[in-house]
Amino acid sequence: MAERPQIPAGARNLGRDDTGDSPAARLARLRDGDTVTARISRFDPTTDTAPHFETYRVPYTKWMRVLEVLTHVSEELGGDLAHRWFCANRMCGTCAVRVNGREVLACWEPVEPEMTIEPLRNAPVVRDLVIDRSGYEQRVLGLTPWLERREPYRGFPEPLTHPAMAAADKALDCISCMCCFSACPVVGLGDETNFAGPAPLVQLARVALDPRDGIDRGRIALERGAVFDCVSCYKCEEVCPVSIPIVTGAIEPLKALAFKSLPRKSRHARVFLAIVRSRGRIDPSALILGVQRLAALRHPLRILKLWRRGKIDPLKTLFGFRLPDIKQVRQVFAAVRGEPR
Ligand code: SF4
Ligand code: SF4
Repeated sequence: MAERPQIPAGARNLGRDDTGDSPAARLARLRDGDTVTARISRFDPTTDTAPHFETYRVPYTKWMRVLEVLTHVSEELGGDLAHRWFCANRMCGTCAVRVNGREVLACWEPVEPEMTIEPLRNAPVVRDLVIDRSGYEQRVLGLTPWLERREPYRGFPEPLTHPAMAAADKALDCISCMCCFSACPVVGLGDETNFAGPAPLVQLARVALDPRDGIDRGRIALERGAVFDCVSCYKCEEVCPVSIPIVTGAIEPLKALAFKSLPRKSRHARVFLAIVRSRGRIDPSALILGVQRLAALRHPLRILKLWRRGKIDPLKTLFGFRLPDIKQVRQVFAAVRGEPR
């Protein structure tokens, strides 16, 4: 096998840049005649009580993608493997799986010499790599992400400009593959939160940011999508196969709409602004306390864990840590609110 090459400067996916694991780098590790080893998660609800792994060895061919490995296993090796795919061209979002712990489209992902292939998370497994999408689809439907026109449709072509559609433009690229939904740690909390999840919120942003829409989408994002439960960890963006800026281009604008629409109910945004205004920077433990109030103290072990990992610093919160040039920060707030400085 060839040596692991240097990552080309400016390669596209952030996570892969960090690890040197670009598609080109991975393809360069294999040559015709090599063998790809795939450990694939298998689960048949009629006979199995839990998923298990089976290992397959598949001959490598040039430019091979993960989907070819899966079809080889199901068609050539008699593996009886259940997996979904349709367009094989990064258009339909059907073939998403996890490869070595990362959500990918099987049709687009170059193979690696050794791969562990699993179904997406945060959805029940129907069989092998096939998940039940109905829970996700119900969440999308619950956000009513279709256009409710401000004014009646006047026929084609509509008088729309590129600048007017710029904010919604990237969200329109979503192929509903559920990669981000699987990667989101907040969705993984299950019933502990009402958070709709990144992909449903991207669907909501498609219409919320469309100038033709006339509904209060901020209220929907807050009351039905629990948009402020997003912790801005960017795990969703790291895996989106069509590079949608999910946090900055969909979730943050939805948070802004929610704050505009229901400022009193947008406790997270209000507490966040109050902390930055008084200390000059965000203080995670003050934010958690301000948003969750006494409920935050119900999980002392979680607090200790966050403290040990340096995620929060209760001492700084207690002693009111603030930046030395706090005056400048307050001037910015005053300017935005049109107050005298
Ligand atoms: S940034 Fe928000 S939506 Fe994206 S993975 Fe993190 S918590 Fe989930
Ligand atoms: S936002 Fe990206 S990762 Fe999420 S469902 Fe849409 S295309 Fe897939």
